Amino acid sequence: MEYTVLTLFPDMVEQGLMTSIIGRAIEEGILSLRTVNIRDYTKDKHGKTDDYPYGGGAGMVMQAQPVYDAYRAVAGELPYRPRVIYLTPQGRVFDQQAARELAIEDGLIFLCGHYEGIDERVIEDIVTDEFSIGDFVVTGGELPAMLMIDAISRMIPGVLHNESSADEDSFGDGLLEFPQYSRPEVWNGKRVPSILLSGDHAKVDAWRREQSLIRTAQRRPDLLKTAHISPKERAFIEKFLEGTE
Ligand code: SAM
Repeated sequence: MEYTVLTLFPDMVEQGLMTSIIGRAIEEGILSLRTVNIRDYTKDKHGKTDDYPYGGGAGMVMQAQPVYDAYRAVAGELPYRPRVIYLTPQGRVFDQQAARELAIEDGLIFLCGHYEGIDERVIEDIVTDEFSIGDFVVTGGELPAMLMIDAISRMIPGVLHNESSADEDSFGDGLLEFPQYSRPEVWNGKRVPSILLSGDHAKVDAWRREQSLIRTAQRRPDLLKTAHISPKERAFIEKFLEGTE
């Protein structure tokens, strides 16, 4: 997977992604990350990349020309037509399903807005997908792009050394994950559930599955509509919820 991030703040993206698991995958060559400073492509002699919005109003708008030229420089070098993702609160809300869909691409270009956003005309010309990280507004597209890159990368074979953990995580099978415990057995007077110490893998798996069902029913019942659950498990959830009423 080749990621390219078009941004006014390349250091922020590089520093954020070159650490921990994603940083290691980049060093190992499973992923590549290229940041492109949109400012390097401005034709303005003072290095300006934004201007006042037509029609008035607060803030500045990123101009079309530097964004377009930065995109052309990158896309011109690629042997395929890449998907170009604009991070915007107005886009499709990003989720695990979207991460899975995007993980099969050879490369992705992320376009980060700042200030009041980007001149609509260049978005119309180059962007193939618009994604939001949720119904709130942050100051720039850099954190949303980093967040998406992290979630997409976890779906790419070899990035997580323990391959099974992505499936077991929340949303892997449409449910929230079961609670996790580590040493010591007793902490602050609280014991680890004894079944986890039993060594009986079948019983542990069954307990964890039950916990996933219970957690999802309590915290995110909306997920149960589309999760992969057997009729027996649905009956279990209904009985559990009746008991908590
Ligand atoms: N004026 C824009 C609006 O109301 O739709 C918001 C601009 S926001 C302050 C600046 C930039 O941050 C956006 O261009 C976008 O790239 C990014 N951004 C802000 N919130 C976001 C979100 N929820 N998801 C993805 N990107 C976001």
